[in-house]
Amino acid sequence: MAQLSNIEAGNRHDLHVGISPDAPDEADFRDDGEGAFGYAHSYETSSRYDGPGLRIVLFMSGCLLRCSYCHNPDTWHLKDGTYVSAQEVIDRLGTFAPALRTLDGGLTISGGEPMVQLAFTRRVLAAAKQMGLHTAIQTSGFLGDRADEKYLSCIDLVLLDIKSGDPETYRRATERELAPTLRFAERLAAVGKPVWVRFTLVPGLTDDPANVDKIARFVAPMKNVEWVEVQPFHQLGAFKWKALKLDYKHADTTTPTPEIVDRVLGQFRAAGCRAR
Ligand code: SF4
Repeated sequence: MAQLSNIEAGNRHDLHVGISPDAPDEADFRDDGEGAFGYAHSYETSSRYDGPGLRIVLFMSGCLLRCSYCHNPDTWHLKDGTYVSAQEVIDRLGTFAPALRTLDGGLTISGGEPMVQLAFTRRVLAAAKQMGLHTAIQTSGFLGDRADEKYLSCIDLVLLDIKSGDPETYRRATERELAPTLRFAERLAAVGKPVWVRFTLVPGLTDDPANVDKIARFVAPMKNVEWVEVQPFHQLGAFKWKALKLDYKHADTTTPTPEIVDRVLGQFRAAGCRAR
């Protein structure tokens, strides 16, 4: 049994390693209980970047993708997270709730991947809704099949990472398949759930015009997609790969030039997407 601790305020760039060594492997983990306890990396306040208004962003531990450019590889494993009670998280959120409501914000659960710990994140999201907060998750959509109607009903906005439009590039970037993400996107479109699609622009990996066009053509007809956000690759997570002794393939990858970012934004807009 992991040791229960308090969740730390911090930010997504803090390194958290080996905090709960006896936690289960995220690949085998099925959070199908009440979600009373979970593994979290940290939380921070954020403005506009992770959803509308002022946000509390809760970073959960556990992810089944292995993106070669991941900025937070210390969120991959449950064992690197802090074992916390949902009630503690909810109580902490409650102290911020008046300010979040005043500033038209709310709660965003990110990661890692929120749907690895489905029951826990559902419990926290439902409590946030009860406080009158806007709720969002940031997800790759890879585990979207796990999200039932009850889960989706607790969420006002999905920040959906579509990391590539080409299945082979997606596999190279994430070591996983693209299809579950597209399936989840289609499901969200069918029920009219608001979505901001996010695309990380990684020079030499995801920047191929044909790859971008595939995402743009897929997303453009979806009326529920409010924004496509192009996120330029950066090196802020590089130190984590080094600290974790992982093989980092992007040591020499540069931030995309403004010209490339403009070209990609132009591709999305030409397809009919609102892009920024
Ligand atoms: S989905 Fe996100 S947290 Fe998971 S490996 Fe990719 S970038 Fe990292």
